[in-house]
Parts: sequence; structure tokens; C-alpha cells
Amino acid sequence: MGGNMENVRRIVIACMDFRLNAYLNENYNDGKTLFFRNAGGHVKGLEAGLSKMLKSGNISSIVVIVHDGSEKRHVKGCAAMGAIKEDIEGRRECNREFETEVVSFFKDRKFGSISEIEEYNRKVQEEALGNLVKSLNIPQVEIEAKLVHTCDVYSDDGKQREKVMVEGEPSSERYKDGVYYIQSGNRLGDVELAQTLGIRSLTKKM
Ligand SMILES: [Zn+2]
Repeated sequence: MGGNMENVRRIVIACMDFRLNAYLNENYNDGKTLFFRNAGGHVKGLEAGLSKMLKSGNISSIVVIVHDGSEKRHVKGCAAMGAIKEDIEGRRECNREFETEVVSFFKDRKFGSISEIEEYNRKVQEEALGNLVKSLNIPQVEIEAKLVHTCDVYSDDGKQREKVMVEGEPSSERYKDGVYYIQSGNRLGDVELAQTLGIRSLTKKM
């Protein structure tokens, strides 16, 4: 993981979507926060890395940040939740890892719209966080799960741009504009899903 881990007091888990970057920089990047990012902000795929940080005893709070769109304002919602919807409806087959870590939690329910899935995602991730903290027996850690309205934190200039992502370890660094971030120990499932969403990786292969 990047940066000085001893200073970390808070963990933020957020969706990879670049539209959250400025919001995360402004509201959470205080030099004491470690960011994990993946497709949809799911907790399940981050359990190993989160457990390691939590066991250090330095962490006082974890925030998971998921997001939605707005039909009224023509702002697209979470692409990862869109993929889940298509998967549930049999129009897409997500990779095995993403299926296990994310889609499986949505499969036995019926959703009328993507915003219902986005809302449910907040609940799923809140529960997963709660279970993790409980299993590690660290009740002092504060948990919060937020659904951010993308239209409140990002204004689209209407320009078409290429979708690109950076892959890496969880980090405390500030985010650049316009870039999707996948930051977790095991990134395979998320990277593969992102690629199927037309997001090109800028990270050089070793
Ligand atoms: Zn998203």
C-alpha cells in the first residue's frame, strides 16, 4: 500500500468512478485517510486488505461511498450497478470474481430500476462492513455507508472523453481528474469488469 500507513486513521471505500474524485479529494483527503476503490465500492473483495488495516488498531472509522445517477438531470448512474442489472436480467455475464464478490448479493432480489440497485448497494456494503468489523471484534470502529448523488458532486461539461483507469494499491494520494481508479490488493475482477465497460487501463503491464 502506498504512503505512510502509521498515520492512517480512516479508511474510505469508494466506487472507481472518476466523477467521485473531486468529492473524495475535497472531503476526505486529510493525509490520514487510506482510499480503497473498486467497481461499485464493494467491501467483499477488499476484506483481506481491510482486515490487515483494521487489526493494526489505528483505524477509528470506515466510510463506504457508493453513488447514483439522476434521470431528471440526465446524469448516468453507477456503471457497475448497471452491469449488475444487465447480469440479473440475463443480458450480460460478469466475470466469476465479480459475480462472487458483488453480483451474488443482488441475485435473489427483484429491482425495478437501476436507482433501486444503487440504493440497495449502500445497504449491502453497510452490512458487509458491519459483519467484517464484528468478525474482527473491533466495536470501537465507526461505520458509515453513504449514497452520493453523482449530480451533486460532478458537473458534466458535455465533452466526450476516453475512459481510462489507473490500477494500484490502496493509497492516500490525491486523485487526478477524469481517471477511474481501482485500488485494492486483488484487482482482477474489477479490472476485467471495467474493461468490459470500455475503460482502458493506463497502468503498464509488468
Ligand atoms: Zn460507480
